[in-house]
Amino acid sequence: MKLEQHLSKIADSLSHDISKNFTDGIREIPRPNGSKKIDISKTKLLGVLSSLIPSKINKYNDQFIENIMSIRSYLSFCSTPKAFRTAWDLRSLELNSQDAEIILNQGGQFIPFNKDSRVFKYEMQGVLYDESKQFLKGIRHVEGNYDDELDDLGHFTYQPPENMSGMLRYRIAERISEETSIPYVVLVIMWFKYKINNKLNHVFTIAPAKIVSVNQSNDINKNIEKSLTLQLISRKEASSLINLFLSLHETSLDIEVRTELQSGLSREWSYDKVSSSNKGKKIKNWAKKTGKRCPGTVCNHRNFNDIPLSQIAFGHIVSQKWCKSFTYLLDKVNHPDNLYLTCNKCNSSLSDKFPEIKLRNSIVEFGTVGDWLRKNIDEIRDC
Ligand SMILES: [Zn+2]
Repeated sequence: MKLEQHLSKIADSLSHDISKNFTDGIREIPRPNGSKKIDISKTKLLGVLSSLIPSKINKYNDQFIENIMSIRSYLSFCSTPKAFRTAWDLRSLELNSQDAEIILNQGGQFIPFNKDSRVFKYEMQGVLYDESKQFLKGIRHVEGNYDDELDDLGHFTYQPPENMSGMLRYRIAERISEETSIPYVVLVIMWFKYKINNKLNHVFTIAPAKIVSVNQSNDINKNIEKSLTLQLISRKEASSLINLFLSLHETSLDIEVRTELQSGLSREWSYDKVSSSNKGKKIKNWAKKTGKRCPGTVCNHRNFNDIPLSQIAFGHIVSQKWCKSFTYLLDKVNHPDNLYLTCNKCNSSLSDKFPEIKLRNSIVEFGTVGDWLRKNIDEIRDC
């Protein structure tokens, strides 16, 4: 299965990078009251890696799936990013009923202490792992964490635990995000003192977050002790990322699983916007500039640079007529991932039929409009 292949690749590349690039020595982790020094050797690190990623990669894969399924089951208890931010900004361990009211109005939820769930259990340890202790599941935010700023977009950083396996789990989670192009999802947990009765005096508020630090240096020698950069996300986004992992797990085909295009981008570059504005020209010019070719066979893959702008069109993978007939598709017909650039000749020969296998493979190879936006949005805007 695809996911298993990715995980196996990560295991190999990490082991290779540590063996080749890691230099023994002291690493420092910043803490509110002075940094903590940890002595790390290559040999020990390789030992920890092999205990975290067992040689039977199918078991590791199953454990990964179990972990994300567990994270998914907590999504129903998650607060909105806005409410979570308000809770974060209280900067207090005590919650009063006025604060609670504001947070609830913003889509927050409070869950009472429950000793049967490690998520809803009061523990001092900052990082939470799955049962096998192989994967990152959540992090606990407590006021006074080192560098506990939450920026306008909901980004924050979280320092690793003071041990090699904790650091390595961070790097593994980043590599999973990078290798699969699907950001790893964790739960962010906060707890407050709030008296319900003599036994229940803590409540929890949780929210999903995704890893965004994938563009950091991949050099394990430089980044082993670095913090994780996370961003609070909605339940909906978390659930769609988890579904992408599940589809990677279920598919053995060599097809690319596309991450959901940012909703802003998909509206900005939908068919109705690109077909009648300068935006369409920008995409066409970018395709010309970068030497893209028509995926169609009628013109035998002519280079767009040899075709006048007026003879280049946006084709639909699932046709407009088909979507009008099967109306549940209507809200997707103009999505950039349903669009590709084509010459007029190839486009009109297709009419309202589905692209046959050869054309479809070429579209996948050359890219949908959505694929181009994902990777080259800044260049396209500049065209
Ligand atoms: Zn063509």
